[in-house]
Amino acid sequence: MPYQHILVAVDLTDECHPVVRRAQALAQASNAKLSLVHIVEPMAMAFGGDVPMDLSMLQQQQFDQARERLNTFAGSYPELLADQRHLAYGQPRQEIHRLAEEQGCDLIVVGSHGRHGLALLLGSTANDVLHGAPCDVLAVRLKKPA
Ligand code: AMP
Repeated sequence: MPYQHILVAVDLTDECHPVVRRAQALAQASNAKLSLVHIVEPMAMAFGGDVPMDLSMLQQQQFDQARERLNTFAGSYPELLADQRHLAYGQPRQEIHRLAEEQGCDLIVVGSHGRHGLALLLGSTANDVLHGAPCDVLAVRLKKPA
């Protein structure tokens, strides 16, 4: 069965363009819909989840900036309409899974750095997304800059 709806997760760095292009090629080959998602991670998570101050205003700014960055990033893909660009707030694994289910996606595409050593112990988003995914997951190997 060809894929029908592919969800590509992007961290909005230039590194992610080859990941989107791979997802686009798959979508074209399967005549599938393609959607893009970026997750804004709560600031408190960066501090270990326990911050004794109100971060709500900063978080709103962070979300607004992420929306602008998503629009700039998605500008490279004019065929992706507004309803194919998603921005969510929370933990990437959880939010990517939630959105994939909500949108009826049958494939999630993420980039993978192929980490090793200490970086491997810290984990990767690709690995995280794979566990408990509601559908197939494709990890596109990201090349190290020359
Ligand atoms: P990382 O393991 O954090 O280096 O990220 C590897 C891949 O996970 C990226 O190429 C994206 O496909 C995806 N990813 C990482 N962070 C996010 C994010 N905040 N929102 C959506 N996808 C992400």
